Amino acid sequence: MNILDRYHAMEYGPAPEARNEADAWLAARDFGKALFIGGDWKAAAGGKTFETSEPSSGKLLAKVSDANAADIDAAVSAAAKALPKWSASSGYSRAKVLYAIGRAMQRHQRLFAVLESIDNGKPIRESRDIDVPLAIRHFIHHAGWAQALDRDFPGHKGVGVVGQIIPWNFPLLMLAWKIAPALAAGCTVVLKPAEFTPLTAILFAEICERAGVPKGVVNIVQGGPEAGAAIVNHPGIQKIAFTGSSEVGKIIRKATAGSGKKLSLELGGKSAFIVFEDADLDSAVEGLVDGIWFNQGQVCCAGSRLLVQEGIADALIAKVKTRMSRLRVGSPLDKNTDIGPLVDATQLDRVKGLVAEGARQGAVCWQPDAALPSSGYYHLPTLATGVSPANILAQEEVFGPVLATMTFRNTEEAIELANNTRYGLAASVWSENVNLALHVAPQLKAGVVWVNGTNMFDAACGFGGYRESGFGREGGREGMFEYLSAKLPLGPVIKPATVLAQPAEQSDGDAIDRTAKLFIGGKQVRPDGNYSLAVATAKGKLAGEVGLGSRKDIRDAVSAARACKAWPEATAYNRSQVLYYLAENLSGRAAEFAARLNELTGATPKAARDEVDQSIERLFLYAGLADKFEGRVHQPPARAVTLALHEPVGVVGIVAPDASPLLGLISLVAPALAMGNTVVAVPSERYPLLATDLYQVIEYSDVPAGAINIVTGRTAELAGVLAKHDDVDGLWVFADADTCGKAEAESIGNLKRVWSGNGRSLDWASDEAAGDAFLRRAIEVKNVWVPYGD
Ligand code: NAD
Repeated sequence: MNILDRYHAMEYGPAPEARNEADAWLAARDFGKALFIGGDWKAAAGGKTFETSEPSSGKLLAKVSDANAADIDAAVSAAAKALPKWSASSGYSRAKVLYAIGRAMQRHQRLFAVLESIDNGKPIRESRDIDVPLAIRHFIHHAGWAQALDRDFPGHKGVGVVGQIIPWNFPLLMLAWKIAPALAAGCTVVLKPAEFTPLTAILFAEICERAGVPKGVVNIVQGGPEAGAAIVNHPGIQKIAFTGSSEVGKIIRKATAGSGKKLSLELGGKSAFIVFEDADLDSAVEGLVDGIWFNQGQVCCAGSRLLVQEGIADALIAKVKTRMSRLRVGSPLDKNTDIGPLVDATQLDRVKGLVAEGARQGAVCWQPDAALPSSGYYHLPTLATGVSPANILAQEEVFGPVLATMTFRNTEEAIELANNTRYGLAASVWSENVNLALHVAPQLKAGVVWVNGTNMFDAACGFGGYRESGFGREGGREGMFEYLSAKLPLGPVIKPATVLAQPAEQSDGDAIDRTAKLFIGGKQVRPDGNYSLAVATAKGKLAGEVGLGSRKDIRDAVSAARACKAWPEATAYNRSQVLYYLAENLSGRAAEFAARLNELTGATPKAARDEVDQSIERLFLYAGLADKFEGRVHQPPARAVTLALHEPVGVVGIVAPDASPLLGLISLVAPALAMGNTVVAVPSERYPLLATDLYQVIEYSDVPAGAINIVTGRTAELAGVLAKHDDVDGLWVFADADTCGKAEAESIGNLKRVWSGNGRSLDWASDEAAGDAFLRRAIEVKNVWVPYGD
């Protein structure tokens, strides 16, 4: 045996991290009084506790107070009591508190890391080098936002009391992602950690005491789903921020529907790790280790689907297997450990069950020949090959150290496979050709894309998903918006539409009888049911008839909107020109539209003309903004730039109000179009002729077929169809409160982004009923990380 052979044969010796400080902290604490409410430590009102144990051994760590609805109520009261003073305090004073939290955490960095590894099972290298430093950076970064609030978010204020619910996979980091922006925005919080991992949040509450956080500003309650549900349903809370599974996310979407609570959901994922044949394979393998085996694969954005180009598949898989054989599975407190235990026995059973089912469905599951520690919830890293796109391992979030592999032939197929999932959280693209990577990134349905890298995070760069991975962003500017509300000029309460007595008599004057059709895919088409809806003038006479749209018509309209590629792919300048052209053509018929408004709504001729002029002006505004509401470039503390791209949401359903029937419709449709969305609009039920009169204007204005579709009919019914339709990505509803609430509740199929007026109209004539607040709802921010340097 030569020296090199000996070197390779050498075993790693143990390199344990000391745990005495953490054990002393555990021994000294009374976990029966673990609820941090109004600055005091309290026992649960019901006297209950739950157990948290150590995943590496199964040993009990603590019995922790288990909050019930009464405790949540007390926490919300404490947060509400603290709110006026905190929200009125200066940005500078809030910044000082956030900074003090960050600094105090820095002083206890090691204790946080060790406790996190003991409670969650994650390797100490990760908690020490990633979780804790990122959490600290989050607080210090957000100190700056507290002070920059007036400058960067004019006209915005904090939403109020916020309920926050987090999972167990990054207990401290998720807490930081939640609490830091909320405090910066002037909100007070009630946060519930996951029941598997309560410890670092308790230590964090102690830090809040030391850092001078005013009593009641941060309340931390411990417990499980019951406590979570009590937060979600509490009427004293103005916003819910949830991170966890898509399943619970849907329950929360439904529970908050119609309540007016602001909501952000950071949910699960099934992210693609795409390796093109020109990639640096050794780097890709290291990326993959981080992508799927980081935190035992219990990562929302884990690269759990390896998509590899056919020509290099065998070579890459061989390298991956070799690397897997060298991953060290063991104690989370050993500094050499790559893979620790899963968080709990239930999670281990779930992962084993999914692997067995994947194998039953035809996947070949390979594991390195390594021994597992004799106790604890360990699972070997697992590579599944021969995975069909429908295999459970390709579709379900395993949340464990399991990688599913598939191959692709060309770029189009790679993109198609990557997007073949109901999730849309993250993706990783590996190619030495940056042109190719940046060509692929915008086509991936994912909120974050890493080029030649993975799992890069920073407080200044937004993180969050598309589709069933949830909505809203955490981090950076877009994350701040989640805790702020803009002043929109409220209009009247919208009453449910009443089916009016059908006007039989022809209107007087020179009106010509017309029966307007629907406008779908660039054509005027008859409604599927062949029924129509009579439209009355202000005087109750018959003004005309419009098609009575149905489920089938909405379906056709959504298909047309989805099929229209010319609009989302057009340049912003191109979209701007078309919107200008729409304005020009509407202005050519302004007198006719004003007369129509006057006839239908009874508005005075001057008021009617003003509404038309304002509609033209609004089209002009969005034409101008189409190429100006752009993304940003972030420079995170890494050798990378992050491109925060603005992308259209996709197919957006718009349910327009009766108030200002022309201006209201245009105020909603124009910003959606400006950002490249395609639209299915349901115009005012009472005054649909204003929308049907627009068909010709649209036809003359070079709008590509399918970019705007208009379905007239009953608002409540059509809003419901749009809400349930899984190919609609966004839905804006200005209708009565019941219709708005139902639209939110029924949107859970694909977790579409719903913006509802909660039963209120807006004052559409106000300048504040236009601009960034609308454009922001028309986009998704995709963060593309591009590293540089050799
Ligand atoms: P989970 O949904 O079971 O639980 C999350 C939290 O919700 C816990 O605190 C739990 O007590 C609480 N909860 C459970 N039922 C509830 C209910 N009915 N009402 C209110 N609260 C309820 O998820 P988990 O197993 O703890 O975490 C894993 C999931 O989190 C994965 O799907 C993962 O992808 C996701 N996650 C997402 C992100 C992200 O940023 N997108 C980050 C981390 C984890």
